[in-house]
Amino acid sequence: MGEILCLNAGSSSLKFAVFASVPVARRIVAGQIEDIGLEPHLILRDAEGATIAEQRWPEANKATHETLLVTLLDQIEEQFARELVAVGHRVVHGGSDFTAPVRIDSDVLSRLDALCPLAPLHQSHNLSAVRTIMAARPGLPQIACFDTAFHHGQPAVATRLALPRVLTAAGMRRYGFHGISYEYIARRLGELDPRFGGRVIVAHLGNGASLCAMQNGRSVDTTMGFTALDGLVMGTRCGALDPGAVLFLLQEKNMIPDAVEHLLYNESGLLGVSGLSSDMRVLLDSDAPFAREAIELFVWQIARQASALIASLGGLDGLVFTAGIGENAPAIRSLVGQRLGWLGLEIDEKANDRGDPVISAPSSRVTVRVIPTDEERMIAFHTAERIGCARTMAKN
Ligand code: ADP
Repeated sequence: MGEILCLNAGSSSLKFAVFASVPVARRIVAGQIEDIGLEPHLILRDAEGATIAEQRWPEANKATHETLLVTLLDQIEEQFARELVAVGHRVVHGGSDFTAPVRIDSDVLSRLDALCPLAPLHQSHNLSAVRTIMAARPGLPQIACFDTAFHHGQPAVATRLALPRVLTAAGMRRYGFHGISYEYIARRLGELDPRFGGRVIVAHLGNGASLCAMQNGRSVDTTMGFTALDGLVMGTRCGALDPGAVLFLLQEKNMIPDAVEHLLYNESGLLGVSGLSSDMRVLLDSDAPFAREAIELFVWQIARQASALIASLGGLDGLVFTAGIGENAPAIRSLVGQRLGWLGLEIDEKANDRGDPVISAPSSRVTVRVIPTDEERMIAFHTAERIGCARTMAKN
């Protein structure tokens, strides 16, 4: 029934995966083009994650986002897809209107364009990829999957900002992000434990990081808010910050808004505090005191903000770690577990070091799991469903 291409287009990277549509989500190939604008570099991986090809474009000025995407599309159609039937996109912001995946036409595209100011560093890149494919393959169906959509059913109180109503009416509210990952984890939890239905916090700890409080597999509250800057300390983003700090930077430090934006999105978080790196592996390997401080703050904020979400849930039955740090850094999971010990949560350190699916001790009052996320698979599933060929979310 053909293949589906999933795209996650960022400012300097293009991540992709190709899935067979029936049974949906059999991954054929995946990869990414990194360093677009510098010296673009493609890595292709097979279904097991082994690298099968690499390619470099030394003349960066000739390799734009558009030309790279069209080259990739040609290559995928030549080598991996007998018949490409649709493209599914990760689109960061769906605003208040787009609460489920949607097929993109010119009307949808202009409504999504209008949301660019709400996600200045992501949305325009996501939509450029849509436009490139529209121009290169006009008849190919394109589906947008939104990072905000999973949070749509939250109680209204969780979405409010304490601002004058005229501003909330203009769209200033908490939306939440990482929803494609959270939806995938909610489904996996349902598969792993058919009786699942409790109060769970999912910690998506990657370069971007957030927590989601779920009840019965639905989002109740989350740490990211109006933008993807809020909440936890991230690789280069500051997370929750007194809004007075932004005023101080503008008024007392005489910074222009673009410079403040760059500081808060690109120079803060683990990188800013450590002065060393945004990469958790580098910080964990370092003896530098500032690296320790960055890790300490990262963990402190996870435990502090998780505790606030426990109040939103009225208790806690499960904690799930996912994404780059959550899946691969037992030291971080252990430190978070220690700070949440007051809940009766106990980590089994041996299981944690092995990266077992369940890492809590049998006596723990909270079940702690590690579940690898798979946003591309979730996008493939929704895309197949939207074009009418979803059967099953079979694992590869
Ligand atoms: P993105 O948000 O870009 O999708 P990822 O989910 O891939 O990010 O997570 C990237 C983060 O995961 C980086 O901080 C990286 O250091 C961290 N990470 C990856 N592998 C490990 C590991 N083995 N130990 C500690 N941290 C890791």
